[in-house]
Amino acid sequence: MSRPIVINNAHLYGDTVASLLIEDGLITQVADTVETPDGAVVIDAQGLVALPGLVDLHTHLREPGREDAETIETGSRAAARGGWTAVHAMANTNPVADTAGVVEQVYSRGQEIGLVDVYPVGAVTIGLKGEHLSEMGAMASSKARVRLFSDDGVCVYDPVIMRRALEYVKTFDGAVVQHAQDLRLTEGAQMHEGEVSAELGLAGWPAVAEESIVARDALLAEHVGSRVHVQHLSTAGSVEIIRWAKERGIKVTAEATPHHLLLTDESARTYDPLFKVNPPLRTQADVDALRAAVADGTIDIIATDHAPHASEDKDCEWAAASFGMLGLETALGVIQKVLVDTGAATWRDVARLMSEAPARIGQVDHLHGRPIAEGEPANLTLVDPKAAWTVTPEALASRASNTPYGGIELPGRAVATFLRGVPTHLDAQLEGAFA
Ligand SMILES: [Zn+2]
Repeated sequence: MSRPIVINNAHLYGDTVASLLIEDGLITQVADTVETPDGAVVIDAQGLVALPGLVDLHTHLREPGREDAETIETGSRAAARGGWTAVHAMANTNPVADTAGVVEQVYSRGQEIGLVDVYPVGAVTIGLKGEHLSEMGAMASSKARVRLFSDDGVCVYDPVIMRRALEYVKTFDGAVVQHAQDLRLTEGAQMHEGEVSAELGLAGWPAVAEESIVARDALLAEHVGSRVHVQHLSTAGSVEIIRWAKERGIKVTAEATPHHLLLTDESARTYDPLFKVNPPLRTQADVDALRAAVADGTIDIIATDHAPHASEDKDCEWAAASFGMLGLETALGVIQKVLVDTGAATWRDVARLMSEAPARIGQVDHLHGRPIAEGEPANLTLVDPKAAWTVTPEALASRASNTPYGGIELPGRAVATFLRGVPTHLDAQLEGAFA
């Protein structure tokens, strides 16, 4: 049995100050002051913001198959350090997570490591080939209890396959999670299609390649009466379509990544492949539209699209480099910078965007994204909003180091993460309390 933990004077959701008692994995008391039981660990959380443990709906852990880029263990550690208590692992591994066997293996490995709950996302189609539906039912009823299905990395392009997938997930109220990218319109594309791509002579990726699929899938979801979740929204036009679809009552949800809320296609001028990502970084007008959509609730959640790559896949010229960037350890800092410090959102909004809503969409809200209240599981993150830190790629827990934020100062970070009352991350200062 683990020692009781007392967290004194934390700012719950960034406002009310309260103290918490954690025993046997549960929050057993929330009060102005709590009595310290014998043998308890006491944390002084003055100035710290307490949030429900963060839930990422979009993580690439690379295992099985690309353990040189990330493993479930290194990715779990990166997640815990970033304040996450649950991650949804994408299916584009090798072998692809398109069978009950693979998803059970990923789920069990996550539990064995115990730093974060790993929920596998099943592939929509066998081998992500877009031709035949995977064994979705077997994955849903496996012990991994898969509720989200995605071919992320590639778009489910065939409208008939998309329709059937939507019909299928409806039977267990799951969702199809779409990487919206028209394959024909983006053949050979390297970055956002616009002024910068024209100047640099790199093949462009037009906004309409995303928007046309978002619109099609919203209409298909309406037709079937099923749920679609759109990943990494990157354009102002996509925001308008999601807004329209929601007004119409279509069951659509959407996510934005921290990098699409901060960076623009101007970064490509460096020719540094660290800024090469799918979908591409867009214009400042798109960034502004995405921030406004997060603030007004049109975009439901923040998800990282944490995409570790081995150095040989990034240390090369732009055209040859893989798409993707790390995100788990920097997400909170970037979100504080672009949303909280700008006044666009409060910490309570952050709790909704990065914990409660993703837990609901991923159907793990019986365990994660719970209120900070008595009787609830002690899945918590303590954030120090004043802990300005400079990102050092080699110091990240991830096995890969492809962060675009190297050398950049971020305003805040998670100083402690608890999964069912067990500390999975403690900064140096707090570590002393547990020694
Ligand atoms: Zn994607």
